Amino acid sequence: MKYEATIGLETHIMQKTASKMFCACKYEYGAAPNTHVCPVCLGYPGALPVMNEKAIELCCKAGLLLGCEINPCSKWDRKNYFYPDMAKNYQITQADEPLCLGGELEVDVDGEMKTFTLERIHQEENAAKNTHVAGASLVDYNRAGTALMEIVSNPCMHSSADALAYLVALKQIMEYGGISDCNPEKGQIRSDVNVSVRPVGQEELGSKVEIKNMNSFAFIQQAIEYEIDRQTDLLEAGGAVVQETRGFDSDRGETFSQRTKENAHDYRYFPEPDLMPVKISAEQVEQWRSELPELPAQRRERYVKELSLPEYDAGVLTADKIISDYFDEIIMKADHPKLVSNLVMGKGMSWMNEIGQAEYLSIMTPAVTGEVVGLVAKKVISNNAMNELVDILVERKGGDPKAIVEEKGMAQVSNDSALEGWADEAIAANPKPVEEYKAGNTASINFLMGQVMKASRGKANPGAVMQVLKQKLDG
Ligand code: ZN
Ligand code: MN
Repeated sequence: MKYEATIGLETHIMQKTASKMFCACKYEYGAAPNTHVCPVCLGYPGALPVMNEKAIELCCKAGLLLGCEINPCSKWDRKNYFYPDMAKNYQITQADEPLCLGGELEVDVDGEMKTFTLERIHQEENAAKNTHVAGASLVDYNRAGTALMEIVSNPCMHSSADALAYLVALKQIMEYGGISDCNPEKGQIRSDVNVSVRPVGQEELGSKVEIKNMNSFAFIQQAIEYEIDRQTDLLEAGGAVVQETRGFDSDRGETFSQRTKENAHDYRYFPEPDLMPVKISAEQVEQWRSELPELPAQRRERYVKELSLPEYDAGVLTADKIISDYFDEIIMKADHPKLVSNLVMGKGMSWMNEIGQAEYLSIMTPAVTGEVVGLVAKKVISNNAMNELVDILVERKGGDPKAIVEEKGMAQVSNDSALEGWADEAIAANPKPVEEYKAGNTASINFLMGQVMKASRGKANPGAVMQVLKQKLDG
């Protein structure tokens, strides 16, 4: 029998808000533990939550970027559970009336365009961060109550490649949209992964396993692959998959049983009595829609259509919003998009790998890079010299491109007597190609050109050399 896997993701994303979801405490990654706390986020009895409007705006904008419908009236619920990462013993979330409904994400999975649909996006609050040390567990409430939204996909993916492509595209859109920085190391994007396997042709989904709270995309992929194999083996051997929550052991690349899956009713959801429902008007939605930024797919199209860049360049440049913004800033100063693209994708990216993106961008600022490109565009230096110039600038941690060109004698020779001299020498020393050229074999001029370039030690402008040679031979 053949089996197929079905995968759904619940992705938690920390929004870029100045303060927490229901109190004025600010969120600052890496701050000393328990320094950004107050009676609300510590769950003191009687403290009342106040809704963060910016978070609502960001959640709805995320929804609009993903083609969701904005719910005109959503409400808050309490999800009850007992664990020290939530001092109130309940999390404020949205059970049956979330902010955003439906939605979809079109992604390229290994060259094939696929559409993955969403069930919903709801707003909730983050839990505190627990750290387990020998003999004790430490709780840092700085993260408790920060704005967190949950993007729930339908069970519509069928492989680890689908899930990875979905997550990469989702992260990119959230970054471009200014919704979240989505830094996995800071826990700003974490997914619960649901995996089930069923015989091909069976309509009903198999029993699902949930792997909770994973932030590494690579581990998510490994966990999905491991689960698909494990569940398929079980079914093939005539066994059954137990619905449960499993953890992922990254050292062994395996999942392991944690607890049999709790059901939704275990949380005893009930409406949050301390908060009003959220009403959002159609005018408000249109206002937010008009403020949406350009997305990666739109940027790629602009690069191809307006800047005439190859599709390949457009894809590489837009993969990272920081690079794409940087590229846009340079071409505003320097124009010549293809030259800029060559520089950024070539020397630029290789130096970024070597010394780090931030360091490279602080040296090769848009202004400096624009100047370098300007020198090439004006034919002051050749493409080779451009690469050398970038190396020198990076090694010296900055400098004036023009001054370095002068200091190193990198300027191309296009218009002086030196060119004529080298051309005369090449013609005098190579009678055979000259004869062949005059007899009609025009390709022979390339040999003479090579001689002139060599004599100039690469500094001659090839176009100018060709012109001088032709004048002398044809005239
Ligand atoms: Zn607080
Ligand atoms: Mn959640």
